[in-house]
Amino acid sequence: MSTPFPRQIEGTGTLAAAWRRSPQLSAVPTVPLDRLLPGGGRLLVIAPHPDDEVLGCGGLLQLLAAQGRAAVLVAVTDGTGSHPGSTLWPEQRLAEARPAETMAALRVMDVPGLAIHRLGIPDGAIAAHEQQLQHRLESLVQPGDTLCATWQLDGHPDHEATGRAAAAAALARGATSIEMPVWGWHWAAPDDPRLPWQRAVRLAIPPQMVERKRAALACFASQVEPDASTGKAAIVPPSASARLLNDFEVFFL
Ligand SMILES: [Zn+2]
Repeated sequence: MSTPFPRQIEGTGTLAAAWRRSPQLSAVPTVPLDRLLPGGGRLLVIAPHPDDEVLGCGGLLQLLAAQGRAAVLVAVTDGTGSHPGSTLWPEQRLAEARPAETMAALRVMDVPGLAIHRLGIPDGAIAAHEQQLQHRLESLVQPGDTLCATWQLDGHPDHEATGRAAAAAALARGATSIEMPVWGWHWAAPDDPRLPWQRAVRLAIPPQMVERKRAALACFASQVEPDASTGKAAIVPPSASARLLNDFEVFFL
C-alpha cells in the first residue's frame, strides 16, 4: 500500500467504526427528502450492478415508496462479471441469479410499483458503452426527474462510467442528477479531501428501514458469501455492508 492507486479497492478498506468517528462525516448536513428531488418528478436509480441499488440508496427507495412516490430502477448490467474463473458462479448462473437477487431484495424492502428497466450492458465494460448508456437514459428521463447514480469518482470503473453517463443524460433532458458513493467508503480515509464534502448531504433513514435494508442485502447470496470454488472471499463481506447500514445515507448534490 506504499504507492496506492488513487482510489484502490482492495483489502478491507476503511472500517465503519472509523467512519463513525469522522468529524467530516458527522458535519454533513441532514436534509429532507424533497431536497434530493427538487423537480417533484420521479426518482431514477441507475445501478451499475445488482446490489448497488440497495447498498447506495435502499433507504431512499423505501422512503419514497412510503410516500407513494414513483421510482424507476435502471439496471445497467446483470452483474455477470463478479466471479471470474468460478465454477460455483459461472456467468450463465449469475445472469439469472443476480437479477433475481435484486427482485428478492426489493420485495424485502417493500417497494411495490418500482418500475425496472434492464439494459443488459456487459458487466465490466460500461465505460466502453458509455454513450449507449447515456442515450438509453435520455430516452427514459423526463424533465423534473432526479437521476441517482453511482459517484463519478467511486473507484470502480463501471460505477464511474455510470455516474458520468447519468450526469450527462440529466443535463441533456433538464433533469437533476445526484450521486451515491458505494466503494468510495472503502478506499477513502475518514478525513479524505477527495470526497466532495461541500456538496454532501445526509438523508435520515428510520431504524425499521435500516433493518429492511440489512435483510435485503442478505438476499444477494452471490455477493455476500465466499466462493469455495476459487477460494475468494465474499465480494461484499460484512465489513463492506456495515459501512452502508447506517441510520442515514449520503448523497452528493
Ligand atoms: Zn457495483
